Amino acid sequence: MTSKPRPSFPARLDRAPGPVPARGAAMQPMSAAKPALATAKPVVRQQPHGLGLDSHAVRQAMVNKLAGQGISDVRVLSAMGTIERHRFVDSALVNQAYEDTSLPIGLGQTISKPGVVSRMAELLLNGRPGKLGRVLEIGTGCGYQAAVLSLLASEVYSIERLRGLHDKARENLRPLRLPNVHLLFGDGMAGFAKGAPYAAIIAAAGGEAVPQAWIDQLAMDGRLVAPVASSTGGQQALMVIDRTPQGLRQTVLEAVHFVPLKSGIA
Ligand code: SAH
Repeated sequence: MTSKPRPSFPARLDRAPGPVPARGAAMQPMSAAKPALATAKPVVRQQPHGLGLDSHAVRQAMVNKLAGQGISDVRVLSAMGTIERHRFVDSALVNQAYEDTSLPIGLGQTISKPGVVSRMAELLLNGRPGKLGRVLEIGTGCGYQAAVLSLLASEVYSIERLRGLHDKARENLRPLRLPNVHLLFGDGMAGFAKGAPYAAIIAAAGGEAVPQAWIDQLAMDGRLVAPVASSTGGQQALMVIDRTPQGLRQTVLEAVHFVPLKSGIA
């Protein structure tokens, strides 16, 4: 992995430190999980039909490709093989669900590429044994990444600023019965202080800076992974921020392409 440590904060690309982005509307917590089902495991349909999308083999082929691209954490590969991505996309797009491509999910947003979801999950796990503690996801979208994260973390708090997608994610996740996923409708720019501190924070939308609130809500030894755009070219790169006993450590990784991080709710 090629990485360039960057010493300065607030976290920005190619830009001098500036103001923290404005915070939008207040959060309205809404749990999608049914806490009564505390021991529920994800419901994976056990009815493979040849090489249809219900088939484990189709996901396994995707997992093999991810491994070929360098994803090596078996927990991530297992989660990617378990969560049925085709259940998170519109019926007209299901035949592309296991390709390594982002797909439209409505309201101008996209479901992230499996390659990117697994890469970011692997970065969050950081090779440490066991499960992650509490994770904050900014940008629920259709809920796919939240479902993947639910298998890797003790609790997942996922915020979405678009009501239509928050509702869609709730619908998509309901049959999976993931008691540790908590969907929130609100502006993720302010993070979600009630769930803080987080062992990991992951953003599925890219701004020109990492909001200070996210950094404030990161636990000691926690890790934040977010796409950050340079203000000049608009090119985004993955940024990793680690909170260490010695202070914050910032690393900029490969170029990525995410939908923009926006303020407020709609
Ligand atoms: N996690 C999704 C990806 C969704 S795309 C997946 O599983 O594929 C990114 C999402 O971030 C969009 O739905 C967009 O509406 C949302 N978003 C952008 N800015 C946001 C903000 N400030 N707070 C919360 N969500 C935001």
